Amino acid sequence: MNIYNTLSKKVEKLIPIEEGKIKMYTCGPTVYNYVHIGNLRTYIFEDILQKGLEYIGYDVKRVMNITDVGHLTSDADYGEDKMAKGAEREGKTVYEIADFYTKAFFEDMKKLNIKKPEIIEKASEHIDMYIKMIEKMLQDEYAYISNGNVYFDVTKAKNYYELSGRNPEEMKVAVRDDVEEDKNKRNPGDFVLWFTLSKFQNQAMKWDSPWGVGYPGWHIECSGLACLYLGDRLDIHCGGVDNIFPHHTNEIAQSEAYVGHKWCNYWCHGEFLNDKQGKMSKSKGGILTINRLTEEGYDPLVYRYFCLGSHYRKPLVFTYESLDIAKNSYQKLLQKISRLTEEGEIAQKEIEKYQEKFKQSIEDDLNTSMMLTTLYEVINDKNLNDKTKKELVKNFDKVLSLDLLIEKSIKIDKDKLEYINQKIKERNEAKKNKDYILADKIRDELLKENIKLKDTREGTTFELI
Ligand code: AMP
Ligand code: ZN
Repeated sequence: MNIYNTLSKKVEKLIPIEEGKIKMYTCGPTVYNYVHIGNLRTYIFEDILQKGLEYIGYDVKRVMNITDVGHLTSDADYGEDKMAKGAEREGKTVYEIADFYTKAFFEDMKKLNIKKPEIIEKASEHIDMYIKMIEKMLQDEYAYISNGNVYFDVTKAKNYYELSGRNPEEMKVAVRDDVEEDKNKRNPGDFVLWFTLSKFQNQAMKWDSPWGVGYPGWHIECSGLACLYLGDRLDIHCGGVDNIFPHHTNEIAQSEAYVGHKWCNYWCHGEFLNDKQGKMSKSKGGILTINRLTEEGYDPLVYRYFCLGSHYRKPLVFTYESLDIAKNSYQKLLQKISRLTEEGEIAQKEIEKYQEKFKQSIEDDLNTSMMLTTLYEVINDKNLNDKTKKELVKNFDKVLSLDLLIEKSIKIDKDKLEYINQKIKERNEAKKNKDYILADKIRDELLKENIKLKDTREGTTFELI
């Protein structure tokens, strides 16, 4: 398997720590709002990565966190607490907000056929681990206490700039102009490991610590959960490109300070989903959710298909026009597959040939569009019988997860089915009354909605085109 590693800025051969096994960590969402389809692009990429690795024979152990504490609007140490902001917006407690949006996230994952990682843990439930790590960092002088807070001293970290490729000079002005410099820091780039609350600050989630009542910084949660559940060495760590700095940079610094050696071998980042204004982001508002797309008549898997059409390392611009193109080709693909019969004997040699091709597209830095091309080649191969084709479709769908073999009629939601049946009834009525103009009008209107009617001896049926 070849995969791009942000650490080396090169496509590298994947060499696991333990043969046949991959330990993978993925940053989860901050649950103060619905995840948007941009976030979901990253989770689709990570899902395909896991399934691709499994397809080529690895046993993958994957961990994901749910951020319910410590994430400030700046992604650094200033700005508002995202969770508190969400709670205030909805007049609920932080715990209620976290619970509600975590469930909503799981539902979105299910709709998009994203497999739940083996271990998903809430950041707020592992405070002891963070305290243990911070104590060690203080003891080894990677960290220091200043005015009650605990900070990480970035000058102590080896290769602090390796992942982001930034230079130290840039980092000196890392603190934005419009933000008052935190005078408690030894270096402007230092970051908070533990925020100690002054008695005037109001924070719903807070815990006792050796440094006073407070809460952990955002980055320590991922280091803590990864070390707790995957041990002191990781194969792969993923996220979106916005996580490279500061989040992943700081994760490396504190984790390596804690474990005392190189921590993670491969860093894989998915590019953004952009809209016309640029990066889609929760804090900017105007976000698109999967529920919204469903209300607008898109099967969530159309969005998955849309994402698979482009490489995870390329920015993807979302427009309804391009989503419609994806919708059309996805529907046509399903239709072609639904016409496959059970005829023929399975041609083992052909199965192996195509599986090898599919495997190569996975091994080529997760080339999802090549995976789709191989799928189309199978379906269009005139020398292949239907049974063999179906077998391959089923096999590829283990990675693609596009419900390729699920009957169309099941995939149409109940309301839409009722609507189509009602239209068919009206058209039959019109035909009975010899009102052919009305009958044709109904047929044409449905056609505009990609619903094609077919008159058969048994009655009128339909297919989605
Ligand atoms: P957050 O909830 O902000 O921590 O984001 C959850 C995940 O979504 C992170 O891995 C981010 O890198 C990723 N992400 C955020 N915005 C986008 C976007 N517009 N396109 C793709 N991924 C994104
Ligand atoms: Zn993280």
